[in-house]
Amino acid sequence: MYVKRILALMLLGALVFGLAPFALAIKQEGSVESPEYGANAAIALKLRLDEENYKNPVLSLDPSSTSVFISKHFCIPKAYKPENLVYVDKQYAKKGVRLREDCLNAFLTMALDMQKEGLSPYIKSGYRVNRKRGSANNIWYAWPGHSEHQTGLAFDLCLKGPKKKSLSAYKYETTNEYDWLCKNAYKYGFILSYPEGKTDITGFAFEPWHWRYVGTYIATDMKQNGLSTFHEYWAKYLSD
Ligand SMILES: [Zn+2]
Repeated sequence: MYVKRILALMLLGALVFGLAPFALAIKQEGSVESPEYGANAAIALKLRLDEENYKNPVLSLDPSSTSVFISKHFCIPKAYKPENLVYVDKQYAKKGVRLREDCLNAFLTMALDMQKEGLSPYIKSGYRVNRKRGSANNIWYAWPGHSEHQTGLAFDLCLKGPKKKSLSAYKYETTNEYDWLCKNAYKYGFILSYPEGKTDITGFAFEPWHWRYVGTYIATDMKQNGLSTFHEYWAKYLSD
């Protein structure tokens, strides 16, 4: 009787311990697709998504490049200020809004074409230095050195007229301007930095108002390759 029980226990033990390594291997195999990032593991690794937000970020050596990559894991120096900041004319922006000259020139060309179609692009915020606000997992505020606004290449759009208490309150995604931008902004070198459904990759909420200048080559290449985030584009083509 005892012998039988001992034999049964030994068999069970052998099964459990014998299968454990296989179970582990299956689990590791499964993580290759990295469903928690919704991207393939190679891209997630290049973006350092396995690291804690803002912890040991990689510092960009060229913060003035139009292809500079900024995220919760990649930053520019906190003291960086672009050289050629220009005020945006008040018909296109709130008072005091500045953009880098190359970004502004591209914006003005685009704005004229939008106006021809009865649309009114209007900038609420351009160049700025973020102060530290929110936790590391906050999907609305970027910490200092981690905001595209600090490059002078990004801006937030809103609707001219009565001021609303937040950018989300404008519901920019429902406007004809947004619709037009999604179809045409790339031709002028602009991309939407934080598209819908990409928070697992960008670390930020859907921001229909936040557009960034990367130049026409990259913006067109992203469109043609079906890549909706600069994060994925950078990881695939620019990170090496
Ligand atoms: Zn913004």
